Amino acid sequence: MSADRSDMGDILRDIRVVLARERELFGETLLIDSEPPGDTAMVRSKPRGKMQVEEPALFELPAPSPVPLTEEAWGSAETLVDLHDRICECLKCPLGHTRTRFVFGTGNPAATLMVIGEAPGADEDAQGEPFVGRAGQLLNKILEAIGFKRGDVYICNILKCRPPGNRKPLAEEVDLCIPYLRKQIALVKPKLILALGLTAAENLLATTESLGRLRGRILEYEGTPLMVTYHPAALLRNPNWKRPTWEDVQAVRKLHDKLVAQGR
Ligand code: URA
Repeated sequence: MSADRSDMGDILRDIRVVLARERELFGETLLIDSEPPGDTAMVRSKPRGKMQVEEPALFELPAPSPVPLTEEAWGSAETLVDLHDRICECLKCPLGHTRTRFVFGTGNPAATLMVIGEAPGADEDAQGEPFVGRAGQLLNKILEAIGFKRGDVYICNILKCRPPGNRKPLAEEVDLCIPYLRKQIALVKPKLILALGLTAAENLLATTESLGRLRGRILEYEGTPLMVTYHPAALLRNPNWKRPTWEDVQAVRKLHDKLVAQGR
C-alpha cells in the first residue's frame, strides 16, 4: 500500500473511533443533528494530527489550568451556609455600599444543574434572593418546562450585589466577585452549568463570541460542562427568542440526564 493510502486508512480508522465514542456519549440523535441552534454541532471532537484512541474530549475548549481559589479565610468554607456567612458583608467593590441585600444564591446545595445569571436587579436586591422578579418567574417556568422545580437546581449570579440602574457589571466588579462564584461551584459540584445571557457566558468563558454562536454547544467552565441560552429578561423583551431557548433547554435537560447517568 502506498504511503498515501495507508494514511487514508489511519484517518478512516480515527473517524470510526471518534464516531463510536460520540455515539456512546450522546446517542444517535445528537450525533446526526447537523443543525443545532447556532451553527456549531453539539460536540466536535477535534482529533489533531494522528489518531486519538483515548476518550475524545467532551468539551470544545481545553480546561484552563486550575487557579487556586483564594488565600482569604472564606476559601476554606466547607458548606454554602458557611461561605455565605463569611462573605455576606463583603465591601470589596462599591456595589457593597449601595446594595440593600447581598444576593448569595439559592436552591439545592447538591444540585446537579447550576443556573447562573448576571447580577441582582431591584427585586433581588430587596429580597436577597436571585431571580425573584419577572425574569425569575419566567426562569421558573422554563425550568418547569424541562421538569425541574426551582428548588431542584442551584441559582446564582456572576455578581452578588446589584449594579445601580441594572447596568452591566464592570470588569473590576466581576474580578472581585467571581471568586465567590467559583467557590460556590466547587461546593455544589454541579454536573452541568446553564449560563443565562451573554454577560454570564462571557465572564465564565472568557470569550467575546456572540450568544448566537455560543448557544447549542457544550462548553465548559473549569472542568464543568456548560451550556448557554438567552437570559429570561431578554425573552421578556423579545419573545421571538423563546423558541430557540426552548430548544436550548431541551438540549440542557438531555445532556444533564446523560451526565448524571454517567456519574460524570
Ligand atoms: N437577572 C439576573 O441576571 N439575575 C437575577 O437574579 C435577576 C435578574
